[in-house]
Amino acid sequence: MVDEFARLSNGVQAWDGWKREWFKLTASILQVNGDQPAIANMMGMKGPRGKYPCRYCNLCGIRLGMGYYYPLKTPSDIPNKFRRQTTANYDALNLPRRTNLRNLITSVVQASKNDLFRETGISGLSPFIEVSTVHFPNSFGIDIMHLVLEGVAKHLLQLWMGQMAFDDISEEHVDQSYIISLNGWAEIGRTMARGRKTIPSVFGRSPRDISKHSAGFKAVEWWAWIEFYSIPLMYQYLP
Ligand SMILES: [Zn+2]
Repeated sequence: MVDEFARLSNGVQAWDGWKREWFKLTASILQVNGDQPAIANMMGMKGPRGKYPCRYCNLCGIRLGMGYYYPLKTPSDIPNKFRRQTTANYDALNLPRRTNLRNLITSVVQASKNDLFRETGISGLSPFIEVSTVHFPNSFGIDIMHLVLEGVAKHLLQLWMGQMAFDDISEEHVDQSYIISLNGWAEIGRTMARGRKTIPSVFGRSPRDISKHSAGFKAVEWWAWIEFYSIPLMYQYLP
């Protein structure tokens, strides 16, 4: 497949039977998709467990025991034996973007040094390097289910429920206007449960009371929560 796309990125002669003429046929791979570890594998990167786990930015993990941990800021209560390692202090809206990833992968693989592999998060030569129309990293899909549904959606809900613990924000600095009271959640949940019989099936699985059942929510329910329910239901509860 890679050979074929490498050839098709330059174009091959093909016959247009309607116009009765030869033309140059090209084809590109638009997106390579999979879950996070599979995509990392296909890109030739170490992926979610490496010191540099992200294919878009150079966010560096902090080693804690056996594995890496990826805070934006080093927590103040980190054990002393890990403190001397790299300290993290990132601006979430301005992360250090990776540039020229394709060239970097080629050079790192050529140099073939363990510390270089570790310090770049690269693990090997992706077969897609041979296909010039594949962009690193933009041609590789984002694992929406794990990232957004199991990640961001759950975290936001914990934040709005006042259950989220912050590394660097003490209780008095948390903006309380973003926390909805228990009564508020009970009302939001009741509204969802009441809607079960009247929500058209085109919206998918009928909604469950999020204040009671969020722990058991399936990916499709998180999806529906983000897509359909959260904004109208939280309107006037959040600033
Ligand atoms: Zn990143």
